Amino acid sequence: MTEHYLPTDALHQWVEDLWRAAGSDEREARLTADHLIGANLTGHDSHGVGMIPKYVQSWLGDQLQLNRHVTVLSDSGSLLSLDGNRGMGQAVTEEAMQMAIERARQHGVAVLGLRESHHLGRVGHWAEQACAAGMISIHFVNVLSRPMVAPHGGCQPRYGTNPFTIGIPVEGAPPLVLDFATSAIAMGKVRVAHNKRVPVPEGCLLDADGLPTIEPGVMYPEAGATPGALRAFAEHKGYALAFMCELLGAAVTGGHTVRPETLTHPQAIWNNMLALVFDPARLAGSTSFGAELDAFVNWLRSSRLQQGHEQILLPGDPERATRRARAERIPVDAMTLAQLDEAAAFVQKATGRSPGPASRLSTATA
Ligand code: NAD
Repeated sequence: MTEHYLPTDALHQWVEDLWRAAGSDEREARLTADHLIGANLTGHDSHGVGMIPKYVQSWLGDQLQLNRHVTVLSDSGSLLSLDGNRGMGQAVTEEAMQMAIERARQHGVAVLGLRESHHLGRVGHWAEQACAAGMISIHFVNVLSRPMVAPHGGCQPRYGTNPFTIGIPVEGAPPLVLDFATSAIAMGKVRVAHNKRVPVPEGCLLDADGLPTIEPGVMYPEAGATPGALRAFAEHKGYALAFMCELLGAAVTGGHTVRPETLTHPQAIWNNMLALVFDPARLAGSTSFGAELDAFVNWLRSSRLQQGHEQILLPGDPERATRRARAERIPVDAMTLAQLDEAAAFVQKATGRSPGPASRLSTATA
């Protein structure tokens, strides 16, 4: 399938203009563009501008609410429970993380519960926000939308791709960021494969009969047909971690776990998140962190390489490399670009305003 190349700055402006046209205030539109373009820049197209058609449907269905702020449900200093009020995840989560960072500055540690945010996107973005303030953060997230992942041993989808994320700041160097879906592949990557008409890697999907498949279309069945399911990563281990994300992200924060009774807003993707944010400088022994890290990384890299591998990477390295490669222009597949144009047309129809089709920004194809 044809890949289009769009200038990074122009695409950022287009996303900002689209949400301004829909009614977002300046801050919300900018944060949404920063986040979505940021995901494309790190190579996670699954969580980049390709999410916009879904967000627009959610907004048109009166599910995603624009210009909302978090409200405090309970506050005991270092423990903070917030409601995202079904607001744009890119804006309400920024606000929630900022509050948690402030609390961690005051108390050394903050435990943040954020419930009912609209899709909060690439969770690594929030770990990077904490790292930029010198904080370590650990995130457990559940996903309230149509179940996608089969529990280990099962073959029907029962929960979402529940991401797990850790960010660690490193003095004088970029942060270490571990950030992944607990499914064998993120659902957005199945969408990208489906749009590009390419198969997904083996071991990621089950078809409607519970049999292994590499065909992404099983997750997009005809109306009325039974969908397939994603598998957990690392067999029982990924499933068990996802189970904990469901309980810590949702049940502990007062959010909902995924069940037919809780799926009341089917066009939207809701996230609930538990984040632990703490100041490593205030932990005894943290002064030796840099030396320990360097020594450990040297030891790791002393390993002989497996065939087909050129180097041993650290969490966060692949995203940094892609950021450099995409600084000037971002590839968007033809199907996703057509969906962005359609989303802009929907916004135009609803409000009389729109930035025009994104496809006019395309400067090259491959
Ligand atoms: P992935 O499988 O690409 O894994 C990415 C992680 O692995 C990164 O931390 C990366 O630095 C690290 N990594 C990759 N190769 C490495 C190597 N060779 N050595 C060391 N570390 C390496 O990620 P994914 O599962 O496709 O998730 C993509 C994104 O989807 C994430 O940003 C996640 O937050 C997001 N997500 C969001 C939701 C939601 O509901 N908001 C749900 C699921 C996933």
